[in-house]
Order: sequence, then C-alpha cells, then structure tokens
Amino acid sequence: MARKRHPNKEIEAAITYAETAEWRTISAGKSAHCWGKLYCKEASREGCKLSIWSTPRNASDHAKQIRQRVLKCPH
Ligand SMILES: [Zn+2]
Repeated sequence: MARKRHPNKEIEAAITYAETAEWRTISAGKSAHCWGKLYCKEASREGCKLSIWSTPRNASDHAKQIRQRVLKCPH
C-alpha cells in the first residue's frame, strides 16, 4: 500500500481523499509532467481514470478536480 507522497499538500490531500473512496494510485515513474494516475474501484475499461500532474499551474484547482471526479464516479 505504500506509495510516494505528492509534493503538493493540497493534491496529496485530494489523493488521500480518493483513496478513502477505494481509488487506486499508480505512480507514473520518471515522467516529468504526470505524477501518476488514479483509478476507481471499477476495474474494467468502464472504470474512471484520472491523471495527476506533478506541477499543475493551479494546484488548488487540480485538487478540486480530483475530488469532483471522485464524487461523480458512478461505481
Ligand atoms: Zn468510477
């Protein structure tokens, strides 16, 4: 279950929020822009997925987006 933490506090909080809703975090490795991906608990190709940026221009907006996607997930 261990994963690296996101350097941005607000985004890290949004990721933690997604994880409490049973979303999974996949680290992107060495990519410069993409920190990783979030997948909802629906494992099929119908499942929601979401890119997490390393350094979004507006971290609060990105964190908000992540939370909204988690809320809207129909699974
Ligand atoms: Zn979903």
